[in-house]
Amino acid sequence: MPSKTTKKAETFEYRAEMKQLLHLIVHSLYTHKEIFLRELVSNASDALNKIQFRLLTDTAVLQPEATRRIDIRGDKNENTLTITDAGVGMTKDDLVERIGTVAGSGTTAFVEEMQKSGKPIDAHLIGQFGVGFYSAFMVADRVTIETRSSDVDSVGFRWRSDGGGSFTVEEIERGDRGTSVILHLKDDETEFAETWRLKEIIRKYSNFVDFPIYVDDKQVNTVKALWHRNKDELKEDELNEFYKFISNDFDDPLDHLHLHLEGRVSFRSILFVPSRAPAGLFREDYELGLHLYSSNVFIQDDCKNLLPDYLRFIRGVVDTEDLPLNVSREVTQSSPVMVKLQKIITSKVLGMLTEWALDDTEKYDTFFKEFGTLFKTGLGSDFTNRDEIIELLRYESTATEAGKTTSLSQYVDRMQSGQKEIFFLLGSDRISAENSPNLEYFKSNDLEVLLLIEPVDVFTISSLSKYKDHEIKSIEKADLNLESESEADETALSKHAQKKLIERFKSVLGERVEDVVTSKRLVDSAATLVVGKAGVDVQTERMMRMMDRNFTGSKKVLEINPKHELIQNLSKLRETSGKDELIEQAILQLFEGALLLDGALEKPVDYVTRMTQLMEAATSTNADLK
Ligand code: ADP
Repeated sequence: MPSKTTKKAETFEYRAEMKQLLHLIVHSLYTHKEIFLRELVSNASDALNKIQFRLLTDTAVLQPEATRRIDIRGDKNENTLTITDAGVGMTKDDLVERIGTVAGSGTTAFVEEMQKSGKPIDAHLIGQFGVGFYSAFMVADRVTIETRSSDVDSVGFRWRSDGGGSFTVEEIERGDRGTSVILHLKDDETEFAETWRLKEIIRKYSNFVDFPIYVDDKQVNTVKALWHRNKDELKEDELNEFYKFISNDFDDPLDHLHLHLEGRVSFRSILFVPSRAPAGLFREDYELGLHLYSSNVFIQDDCKNLLPDYLRFIRGVVDTEDLPLNVSREVTQSSPVMVKLQKIITSKVLGMLTEWALDDTEKYDTFFKEFGTLFKTGLGSDFTNRDEIIELLRYESTATEAGKTTSLSQYVDRMQSGQKEIFFLLGSDRISAENSPNLEYFKSNDLEVLLLIEPVDVFTISSLSKYKDHEIKSIEKADLNLESESEADETALSKHAQKKLIERFKSVLGERVEDVVTSKRLVDSAATLVVGKAGVDVQTERMMRMMDRNFTGSKKVLEINPKHELIQNLSKLRETSGKDELIEQAILQLFEGALLLDGALEKPVDYVTRMTQLMEAATSTNADLK
């Protein structure tokens, strides 16, 4: 029954980005249109949670005795669908401020990004970024909201929009607290006025809502909290459904953890590891957290204090009796109960991961592929569980296929007799790491090297100096104690010739290098740059340069390979000919070539010009390539 209008309606314009988003919602979101109902039911449930919470401490509320339920009604004659709740309702300001904008600040930016990249914008995003209420415009060409806030002296309001550029708000007479959202369905969306269809959608997406949901006066959901049931009573299907409900994911989770603890703190919890990392996991405005209940009363669905940041991908519910019932968000942030809960949950989750790593490596590898990057950051933040985290780290290595990883303990098992250290090389990707001249010695001596090719590795490895008794060392460091191969010396230059040539290198390169030395690590290449005693790795330096434009890298040590023909030629040229210019150009070219391989050559112009000159010189003799 339409409420009587008491005042003239006011018209409001949507903000520009809102118009754009509405347009996108109406025109690009084709998959899973039905989820609009989940969004509206979830808003109704939020509104009921809020009033339930408020009633714990405040009885000066409109209709305190009103039943907390959600009513869904389809009308085939009118082609409308109405969702009604007796929740907190909305004031005029709420309607203008909250319904007129999109909650998640990152939403519009993200949608634009997706559009640019040409990826389809699908229902996954609605869940993750909360397009929320506006998904109603996927199936309705007009939407009306009638609402009255739960304050005793409130008045009713009606909000109306056709999803175009504007909306209107007018005062109405409304006796009931709460909100009705009325969808005037599009001509081809009549199915959403059908009872069977509505029931089907509710069972699929909203079965675990904490309040009874009625579709055309029949209750359709199970309200009993899943985590209050016994472990062995729970069926896999049910758990998967529950996961999808709380996470808005469309895929089954990788696995779950069911906890029921009584002792210093008592709580029940069901936690899930998703099978895929959600979009936005690394965005700054990532808002997801666990659902927190206090003695079965919903407190918040984005509680971030129950898990450390590096485990923020876990979804689930925690229900404890140890928090005061009317706990506020502020209290949840600082309460000692929360600290205890976090400690226990973290150790249980790590325990589960450790079990997978030992008994179900396939599952563990899937987990690590999706969440390993984030997980590794725990090394720098969670010192209590450091040993466990270290065992759970996985890296690619010269002994694994591309894309496959090893643990540190597996590495140690494969170490050669006499090998004491664990070697690693930082790189930007597998191929360039594998082709680093610095690997040559290790390849030819069958020494395994971890290939750390993720940006996050730069930070994590710097806090890992030892594993068990083994030092963890960068193969780019100049002070590596490599055993020299005895037969190598026979083909190499004499000590004297080496000394003279090195002097020549130093005089040409001057301040551009920390030192020039003969190399033990090179086999096929003529020269390479390594990090001096005080310096940092190439990758670390690249990171620092990215963060600070004025950062000038530390000087490197140039290592030259006395077995390489080019170095031997240069030595001969130095002794016998007066070709100073050629020697100088070749030295510069070797040095800048090494810089180029490290991604640290700043002015390629000189390099290319010099290369042209050198090729000119080479082609003017009779020499040919071998
Ligand atoms: P979200 O639910 O992600 O915040 P929505 O666009 O769905 O985004 O809703 C925006 C806001 O409008 C909500 O945060 C809430 O404040 C208000 N709102 C929506 N539906 C209701 C309702 N049924 N009762 C009370 N407030 C509501």
